[in-house]
Amino acid sequence: MLNKKNLIFLGGPGAGKGTVSNAMIAKYGVAHISTGDILRAEVAKGTPAGKEAGAIMKSGGLVPDAMVCGMVGERLKEPDCEKGFILDGFPRTIAQAETLATILDGMGKKIDAVIYLNVSDEIILQRLTARMNCRGCDAIYNKIFMPPKVEGICDKCGSELFQRADDSLETAKSRLAVFHKQTQPLIDYYEKLGLLYSCKSTELDEIVAELAKVLE
Ligand code: AMP
Repeated sequence: MLNKKNLIFLGGPGAGKGTVSNAMIAKYGVAHISTGDILRAEVAKGTPAGKEAGAIMKSGGLVPDAMVCGMVGERLKEPDCEKGFILDGFPRTIAQAETLATILDGMGKKIDAVIYLNVSDEIILQRLTARMNCRGCDAIYNKIFMPPKVEGICDKCGSELFQRADDSLETAKSRLAVFHKQTQPLIDYYEKLGLLYSCKSTELDEIVAELAKVLE
């Protein structure tokens, strides 16, 4: 059981937010709210929001605050969030963090901890360009650091693996620059609120064990 159960995972693209979230969800049964996943689903469905977001995502930029905040506000109302939730990839700007605080306040909830996955730019670029995602489930692999048993096939569900369009070297570099400029200020913001926990390890098992100590 998690004592601190409403969480934000902060970190650059490829810092491991999705991978650590998946492990924490399997262990604790909290809800996973990934704005990247929500946006990719909108793009795949071809909705108006998806059309607007798709081009921005391809370039590595951030989609408008109002769009993601609206999506997160709706998602937080779903019953599975009662057990706790991990916000993965949200907030990414100070404005989003402020809107999130207002949304949660209105629901009588609050963020219990912000986990910062502190990974160097060098490792991030190596990871992003070798990342593979499953078409069938949420599994994430890495050709170098965490390869699947059979190349191109998901160990968990047998579906095909693919590389995200925004994981090319060029877009990965832009996303990293966007992180430093727009998202990094959130580290200070949450530190001042006394909510930040910085995690330096890059090993999944070590991170999960460390988080158990801090959050259970
Ligand atoms: P991710 O899967 O978290 O790496 O997100 C992929 C892309 O979706 C990002 O590069 C942004 O273009 C967009 N995105 C995801 N979350 C947000 C957010 N909180 N604010 C703005 N754009 C976002």
